[in-house]
Amino acid sequence: MKETEKTEGQKKQEALSYKKKNYFETATDAERKEMFAYAEGYKAFLNAAKTEREACEYAVNAAKEKGFTEYKPGEALKAGDKKYFVNRGKSVVVFRVGKNNLEQDGLRIIVSHIDAPRVDIKQNPLYEDSGMCFLKTHYYGGIKKYQWTAIPLALHGTVVLKDGTAVQIRVGEEATDPVFYINDLLPHLGGEQMTKPAAKVVTGEQLNILVGGLPYPDKEVNEKIKLTVLDILHEKYGMCEEDFLSAELSAVPAFDARDVGFDRALIGAYGHDDRVCAYPALTAVLNANSNHTVLAMLVDKEEIGSEGTTGMQCKVYEDLMEDISDAMGANFRRVRAASKCLSSDVTAAYDPNFAEAFEKMNAAMLSCGTCMCKFTGARGKSGSNDASAEFVGEIRKAFDRDGVVWQTSELGKVDFGGGGTVAMFVAKLNIDTVDLGVPVISMHAPYELISKADLYSNYKAFLAFMK
Ligand code: MN
Ligand code: MN
Repeated sequence: MKETEKTEGQKKQEALSYKKKNYFETATDAERKEMFAYAEGYKAFLNAAKTEREACEYAVNAAKEKGFTEYKPGEALKAGDKKYFVNRGKSVVVFRVGKNNLEQDGLRIIVSHIDAPRVDIKQNPLYEDSGMCFLKTHYYGGIKKYQWTAIPLALHGTVVLKDGTAVQIRVGEEATDPVFYINDLLPHLGGEQMTKPAAKVVTGEQLNILVGGLPYPDKEVNEKIKLTVLDILHEKYGMCEEDFLSAELSAVPAFDARDVGFDRALIGAYGHDDRVCAYPALTAVLNANSNHTVLAMLVDKEEIGSEGTTGMQCKVYEDLMEDISDAMGANFRRVRAASKCLSSDVTAAYDPNFAEAFEKMNAAMLSCGTCMCKFTGARGKSGSNDASAEFVGEIRKAFDRDGVVWQTSELGKVDFGGGGTVAMFVAKLNIDTVDLGVPVISMHAPYELISKADLYSNYKAFLAFMK
């Protein structure tokens, strides 16, 4: 319809109403090409980085390639410096020092987490039973346990041997590698199992990972299969059974990231939560052209409450910000007060197959862009940062200025559940913070799903935030 044909009411409706836009639909051809090209880099990152250690290593290598150098706390800094700081090999902060006065302008911070739900190996894990050798596990993060059975798993991690040497293990990712497996019961005998609530269909102590079946050829040995496995571990990694005591091994899905759908609009992968925010945060800081001092903080332990020395609650991140302030001759309290943060974590995408869990008007819609959550938490916004209208307005203005397609949401219906992010830990430092991240289908499943449009929108949003 031509403009002249519109009625007064139609014009008014257009001017006054709000409607979410599908980013694929509104993007130019060139932009759509960029979306798909950007997704290729993201998939490569997903395949290379299935644990926080690997994500950290990836970020350091990517930063080095762009001329970033390692920051040593206490060293001098000047505008234009490009640095990265690694915390215990599990979290990393990549940052650029800008021209703006730090006390007046503060820092522009994007925080995402690089740990993901998975199944960790216990400290005394190895046993054999009935022709099979297993590793006992303890799951990490919020998982539906039954989803982790009967799928190919890879083992990733670090073993610190008796002599202190750290050995890296990564088995199950190459096409020629073996994979690992958690058994499930056949439906023929699963009658009783299938009557249980889903939380109890498979229990934590049943998540034992199958790692061997070949008996060691020696009649005098009992536990022959266990010995074969130990023999291989010793030959390959120099480890003995006792070395599991000081090991961090994780079973993660052995699937690669793949395009989903005939039109390749979507990506299926393990660990979108929260690498779909970490990758845009990293690439935005690597590619930023900003007068602000910008930081991408890729942190660990979010899935278990941001505790420990690599989680967001650790003082290490605050110390780093203070060191940067000191190096620039700025008072840290002033810097904090002027700083702004996007706490970038995923949110639940509306799923018509589970419509009852969502309130459609305030649910994140797939492909409608990265999603701002003014507040998170549970029940009456408990445990939430709840950003101010002023700060949301400021971010909104920056996004509109740069044509970012974005939306807002809450995680599901009121009182249906809820979730938290690192936002509240940053806000405690007197830093204005709001949550922004990509909508995910099947969050915390071994294979999660996102839209390429939302991934790219997240990247564009970060660039706008840092401009
Ligand atoms: Mn998350
Ligand atoms: Mn999560």
